[in-house]
Amino acid sequence: MTNHTEEPLESEKKALNFIETIIEEDNLSGKHSGRVHTRFPPEPNGYLHIGHAKSICLNFGTAAKYGGKCNLRFDDTNPEKEETEYVDSIMEDVRWLGFQWDKEPYYASDYFQQLYDWAVLLIQKGLAYVDDQPQEEISRQRGTPTRPGIESPYRSRSVEENLDLFTRMKNGEFPNGSRVLRARIDMTSPNMHMRDPVMYRILHAEHHRTGDTWKIYPMYDYAHGQSDYFEGITHSLCTLEFEVHRPLYDWFLDQLIDTAYRPRQIEFARLNLSYTVMSKRKLLELVRSKIVNGWDDPRMPTIAGLRRRGYTPASIRAFADRIGVAKRDNVIDVGLLEFSIREDLNKTAPRVMAVVDPLKLVITNYPEGQIEEVELVNNPEEPESGSRTIPFGREIYIEREDFMVDPPAKFFRLGPGREVRLKGAYVVRCESFEADKNGVVQKVLCTYDPETKSGSGPKQPKVKGTLHWVEASTAVTAEVRLYDRLFMDEDPAGHKDQDALEFLNPDSLKVVSNCMAEPMLAHVQAGDKFQFQRIGYFCADPDTRPGKPVFNKTVGLKDAWAKMAQKDGQ
Ligand code: ATP
Ligand code: MG
Repeated sequence: MTNHTEEPLESEKKALNFIETIIEEDNLSGKHSGRVHTRFPPEPNGYLHIGHAKSICLNFGTAAKYGGKCNLRFDDTNPEKEETEYVDSIMEDVRWLGFQWDKEPYYASDYFQQLYDWAVLLIQKGLAYVDDQPQEEISRQRGTPTRPGIESPYRSRSVEENLDLFTRMKNGEFPNGSRVLRARIDMTSPNMHMRDPVMYRILHAEHHRTGDTWKIYPMYDYAHGQSDYFEGITHSLCTLEFEVHRPLYDWFLDQLIDTAYRPRQIEFARLNLSYTVMSKRKLLELVRSKIVNGWDDPRMPTIAGLRRRGYTPASIRAFADRIGVAKRDNVIDVGLLEFSIREDLNKTAPRVMAVVDPLKLVITNYPEGQIEEVELVNNPEEPESGSRTIPFGREIYIEREDFMVDPPAKFFRLGPGREVRLKGAYVVRCESFEADKNGVVQKVLCTYDPETKSGSGPKQPKVKGTLHWVEASTAVTAEVRLYDRLFMDEDPAGHKDQDALEFLNPDSLKVVSNCMAEPMLAHVQAGDKFQFQRIGYFCADPDTRPGKPVFNKTVGLKDAWAKMAQKDGQ
């Protein structure tokens, strides 16, 4: 049956993901009066990575789909690890991905007073107590999933004593680590998180926003659910490991408020990528130990790194869309991320000529000193991008690997006696070559047939190979940074007895300082993206200076994923 309308066929419509199904059920039942309000809650203790991008696309995307709102909330309850630099980078990255949060960003630290007041309320209700034991003792008493915990000797302190101690904790009378405030729940609960969890710790530390106002800081588990509540979040999307924390979040709110409204937490599987480490702690280690050149090193899986590498926001959103959301943990092939940027740049990146490993080729019968212009299409995928001319002359550069002294029959490039077309220009025939004393080829000598000019010449012989090239006297010298995977192991963080750093790829960065490129590339701006014909996609690095372009290789041209995606009907 043919479809006569513009509407997609039922079978072509994208099925709802399980989160959307829940939201639509809630909207139908009028649970939040049709309101959809999500939030993205990063801790400002590092730069965002591609896993966060998944969460950002999910939270902002879901809100947008249902005409709702999405907050950006900094979960800044850990003053020792948090910095304004991270806050700024997070805002930049979220905006760059194409999303705008509702109103101003929120901060958990905005709720410190309210959280404190609620902690006092819990003490007054006999539901929280100050424990004087050291952290190790508290941990020991927690038991194991199969063995119940032991009650603290301080558990039955009077409300008055608890209030007094908690106030003095707040006032900074006690040293770090000497006391904590704990919720008084159930030391025998099968859920370890319900065994009198710590709510507050003493920390004499400067907070990036509240300065030295506070000497005690709430634990994430105490702050998080309440923060969702304060902001009127309807659907609180988080990764699977928080599923077991949910009863605790519910418990706090149940003790503190009696209205019907509750944020609904929904857990989804975090993104894991092959050949990649995603823990912020590990990424910080890579930066601190200078294994990479900062958070935005193009080998990093950070959003800043991907941006510098040449990824576009659209490609990352397409990737997030393609992987979808699941309820079970899985590992995504890093090739799928590469497929997404290749697909995007194939449509948008202008094609240019650049030779990464140059070998001189001299056309001996071409007039000395003559330069002519040849015309090249800018992007065959985008006809309106038009064409440009580039200079051609007697001496050009070709890619070293496009010449072989003694090539096999199937090598459709250059070798003695072989013919190839120089893209957009002429057919040349290799007559001889010059090598140094070690046999390394220094120069390839060719002749050309002036009748074979691409497109316009009277003779258009069929030759099997077409090479890219750059005219030597007008070429721009560019620096090119070629990247390979940072880790050689598929699951670098998944080894029990070996640290991920043991699997570092020693050849993850190769710098080429003498790439020869067509003249136009002298004027690129950081962030400009191109396809170097026959090589791959490249993006101008911020280190670019006038006349001195520096390019990062984003991704090669080869595309194993395209076929698979086609099969999947994507
Ligand atoms: P850590 O808590 O170890 O510092 P984190 O990666 O959990 O690191 P957060 O800043 O707490 O960092 O994360 C912010 C949000 O991003 C959370 O909602 C979290 O669930 C989500 N998130 C983090 N990592 C991933 C991932 N790999 N895939 C999907 N979502 C993620
Ligand atoms: Mg976290």
